[in-house]
Amino acid sequence: MSATLQVREPATEQVMAELPQAGVAETDAAVARAKAAFPAWRRVAPAARAALLRDLADALDAAREDLARLEARNAGKPIASARGEIGMAIETFRYYAAGPERLLGDTIPVAGGIDMTFREPLGVVGLIVPWNFPLTIAAWKLAPALAAGNTVVLKPAELTPLTALEFERIAREAGIPEGVVNVVVGPGRVCGQRLVEHPDVAKIAFTGSTEVGRGIAAAAAATIKRVTLELGGKSASVVFADADVERAAAAAPLAVFDNAGQDCCARSRILVEQRVYEPFMAALEAAMGELRVGDPLDERTQMGPLISAGQRESVASYVPEGAPVAIRGTVPEGPGYWFPPTVLAPVANTDRAAREEIFGPVACVIPFADEAQAIALANDTPYGLSGSIWTRDGARALRVARAIDTGVLSINSNSSVRVSTPFGGFKQSGVGRELGPHALEAYTEVKNVFYATEE
Ligand code: NAD
Repeated sequence: MSATLQVREPATEQVMAELPQAGVAETDAAVARAKAAFPAWRRVAPAARAALLRDLADALDAAREDLARLEARNAGKPIASARGEIGMAIETFRYYAAGPERLLGDTIPVAGGIDMTFREPLGVVGLIVPWNFPLTIAAWKLAPALAAGNTVVLKPAELTPLTALEFERIAREAGIPEGVVNVVVGPGRVCGQRLVEHPDVAKIAFTGSTEVGRGIAAAAAATIKRVTLELGGKSASVVFADADVERAAAAAPLAVFDNAGQDCCARSRILVEQRVYEPFMAALEAAMGELRVGDPLDERTQMGPLISAGQRESVASYVPEGAPVAIRGTVPEGPGYWFPPTVLAPVANTDRAAREEIFGPVACVIPFADEAQAIALANDTPYGLSGSIWTRDGARALRVARAIDTGVLSINSNSSVRVSTPFGGFKQSGVGRELGPHALEAYTEVKNVFYATEE
């Protein structure tokens, strides 16, 4: 190991940590540790494994504020958001602590004996996560993987490895046996790639861009690895004229600009029925005036900077000279990777800004004429992760919800993610589901055993 990784604070551009950077050898060593720890970890009695996961949740809870501040500084996210995210990570461990004792099998009626199924752990699971919700997204994978009896190698994003390293330490101190949780900090194309290719890794659970996800799916084929992919999004919020338009407009800014738009669930396409377009835009402008952009560690801040200079450059390319900027917020002066919250309107769904995942604080408002056109526009995207429907007509709400090809929808709300409900995408937004009851199954194989009972 030779190279050093510099971790920067996006709000100040200052280096906040320097870490040794892992390569292929360190990744192989982590997989070997996880492999060695697997036989004993899978044999830990279900109630004992559950107790260890509850102890881990308690240990994370004790470190809650430190983890939130570290995440806020490293990811440039508002401290209030970081507290919520760390809270969710803790809740995810509490939820899946019930998992070891609920990995139920079936008995199936057959001739000549007893047929039964077991849910077996997979072995070593590689977890590859992005920089936008670092510990939270890691927890969505860690908790069900460990609950099901797997051991893990977690590769955090190079830009935000700090809470993952804290997690590794806290897990050891909470009594999780040596080798069960391993964190490797290094480049995706080296350490991540090695995990994907490694013959001793049984599954890859990946969250990140669709482009990298596509490469992972292809590379995983060589060893027939299981994969869960949580990828990009370009979700629509559909506002019908019969909705509480004021409420929809008031909720819209945080549905795009939360986490400075670096959110796979961002409702970055706002589809508005033509006849309420003007009042919607007026209410949206008023709501954007309330958005507080600034220092992530200020308790009142709602939006911080982007993660990096590169990300800011990429986001800026979607707002070139002459772009139809309808509303633009302000940002602090001085250092930091700031980009103002920006609404482009009216935009055609064929425009680049409406087709590609910008992953920054830029929203497109797209007018539509009727329900059929709203559904067609919402579905006219390669993605299908989340979305919202705003209407007072209950039948329409459910009709449209069934017609939109997306994994997670909210009616008269923009919330997508809960610990106890499944999360994941249709189409190029991914494969598989995280969270809720479904995720545990994704970290197990079904084994069928027939026991002959005839004399
Ligand atoms: P990214 O795809 O560039 O990187 C994600 C992770 O993959 C990082 O840890 C990176 O080091 C690693 N990686 C990069 N190249 C690799 C390779 N060749 N092999 C293995 N691993 C590799 O994504 P990002 O820029 O960190 O995150 C932003 C993206 O994540 C956005 O597209 C966003 O929509 C998506 N995302 C999706 C969800 C979801 O649940 N669907 C949640 C958050 C973010």
